[in-house]
Amino acid sequence: MKIDAFIGLGSNLDDPAGQLALAVSELAKLPGTELVRQSPFYASRPVGPPDQPDFINGAVWLSTELAPHALLDHLQAIEQAHGRERLQHWGPRTLDLDLLIYGNQTLQDERLTVPHRELAHRDFVLQPLLDLKPGLTLPDGTTAASLRAQCPDNRLRRLTPPD
Ligand code: ATP
Ligand code: MG
Ligand code: MG
Repeated sequence: MKIDAFIGLGSNLDDPAGQLALAVSELAKLPGTELVRQSPFYASRPVGPPDQPDFINGAVWLSTELAPHALLDHLQAIEQAHGRERLQHWGPRTLDLDLLIYGNQTLQDERLTVPHRELAHRDFVLQPLLDLKPGLTLPDGTTAASLRAQCPDNRLRRLTPPD
């Protein structure tokens, strides 16, 4: 059975827009997976240490047969292939791929919290999710639109034109 999974993408090193574009094509090729839609890209001020370049963020909607932990394994393998180094918490990175939403499932263990624990506080996550699916709801019934309306403003700038 295929599940709708939403992945958040972020980069602020080594041609961030190129990193994201390549990552989208890699996600589309995952086994048992189709790319339903890709969001516009946005520029945002970094969360965490401020002495780092702005981020480029986006999100994709996948329809996948991969189980959540198998999907996370693939996300981390793609991050590694993009030269991701974990030097500093919330520090600069070539590619961050976070599993934001996996169907209507709620998961919490040492590797995976779904929906993503910071989703409600990040306009650079919520806005691309709304671009992908304006009626998106979380497993608890909260709408992404209501979270976006309440979330702190991180001076998001849309980089790609509307569809
Ligand atoms: P943040 O989680 O605040 O966005 P980050 O993306 O920089 O921070 P990472 O260094 O990419 O954090 O990941 C740290 C750990 O988070 C990973 O080892 C992974 O096991 C765990 N993790 C928990 N839930 C998720 C999720 N929904 N998507 C991706 N990683 C997750
Ligand atoms: Mg992240
Ligand atoms: Mg991450």
